[in-house]
This record gives sequence, structure tokens and C-alpha cells, in this order.
Amino acid sequence: MSETINEHGLKRYIDESIKRAIRKRCGFGCVICGNAIVQYHHFAPPFKDAKEHNPEGIALLCGSCHNEVSTGFASNIKVSHASKNPFCLRKGFTSHKLKMDNDYPVIVVGTARWEKTVTIFEVLGEPILQIEPPEQPNTPYLITGLFCVQEGNELFRIVKNEWIGLIKNWDITFSGGRVTIRRKLHDIALELQYTPPSNINITKIDMYYKGARIFGDKNGFKVTAPNKSTISIGSSNFKGISCHTAFLIDHTSVIAGYMCEYTG
Ligand SMILES: [Zn+2]
Repeated sequence: MSETINEHGLKRYIDESIKRAIRKRCGFGCVICGNAIVQYHHFAPPFKDAKEHNPEGIALLCGSCHNEVSTGFASNIKVSHASKNPFCLRKGFTSHKLKMDNDYPVIVVGTARWEKTVTIFEVLGEPILQIEPPEQPNTPYLITGLFCVQEGNELFRIVKNEWIGLIKNWDITFSGGRVTIRRKLHDIALELQYTPPSNINITKIDMYYKGARIFGDKNGFKVTAPNKSTISIGSSNFKGISCHTAFLIDHTSVIAGYMCEYTG
């Protein structure tokens, strides 16, 4: 594992376009168990014998499954079988359960920071990103949310801290604490950055839901109601504490910081 170049002169570095082909073929998750946090494993042939990075001979494996193979507790034959019928392609999604600490999650939406806030987005009475209290004492709060790129066209969802990306996406990467979903090359539809212990930063979003639009990136944030009423939060920092709802979107209005103890 440690050598960066093999006896045929092949470097470990895999070109991004080849990695993307491998991700797509494997359904963006471990071919054995479906976990979205993955490494690239040469199985046919093993890296030491490879003369090229052939996407057909490289599979996505999570750290745990990769470890079993590299320590001899699972074989490349198992990887090969799983690679022909990857877990995520059978299930339709890849996923990873986020292991957050137990303090109340802080959600940063573009440049707006929301602390102790119950619902981040509510569209026409429906919460689409919210934080529920822990089900048991001394366990994490539970984040649930839905992210759509067009009306009803789901990109990604979070169900009680499990991050779930559909395989129909053009590309999904989980790396550096960040999930990135691309619609095409250089076109990010959604980017969420997790920072331990319990911060989630929505750094890029472009979402449509029930006629509302939520759009934001490092330059600012814009929420638009079905009748085109819009609230913009620019590049200056904004903070809401102990709010019922961060962005309350109705047919004809958008409220930022609904029922808050503090905004500023
Ligand atoms: Zn696995």
C-alpha cells in the first residue's frame, strides 16, 4: 500500500476523470457495503502488477472493507464479485452515517449562521431541513433534510444524520468532511461541509421546491417564494440564535429568522 510507484512505473495517483468513471460504475460507494467514504482499490490486477489505471479493475472500497482485503481477511475475488454487482447500484443510493457530538448542531447557510434553531428551511408549511432532539439521552441531535435540484427531483437527503446520495447523480464525492454533488463538470449543485463536532455548512446550494428557490454560495444567499418575493443575505455575516425557523417560505413571502431570541 505504501509505495507510490510500482515496478512498472505506474504512480498511485489516479487521474480525476478515471476516478469519476470508477465512482459512477460503483454507484459512488463501497462496492461491498455501500459506505460513501471510499478509497480506490486495484483488484484486477492488484496495483503492484498494474500497468495502467483501468476503471474496470479498480473498485471503491470503504476503509473497513479495504482493510479486510489488505490484511488478508477478504480476497480480491470477493471485490471482483461485488464490483460486478455493486451494493449502491442495487440499492439506488450511497450513504454515510454522520457521527456528530451531542451538542446542538450549528447550521451555516452561505454566510448566515443558525444556532439552536429547530427548522432551517420550511417551504409552504413543510420542514425540509430540520433538527430533532436526541431520541436517547447522551446521543446526538438528529438532522433530517431533503435537497432537490429541480421540482421534486431529489439530489440528496439526510435522514436522522445519515447522508444519502442517489446514484442517478452525475457525480458525488465525500472527501475532507465535505459532500459535493455535481450536475456536470465544474457545476456543483450542492456542497455540504461537516466540521466536527457538530457544524454543518451549506457552502453551495441551488434548490427548487414547491415553486420556491433556495440559492447560495460564498458570495451570498437568496431565498425566493413562489410569487418571486426574495430575501437576500449578502457577504456580511448574519446570525440567528434560538429560532423556530431560519427561513420560512410561504406562497408570497420569505421570513429570515422566524421566532428568534436573537438575530443580528
Ligand atoms: Zn465497505
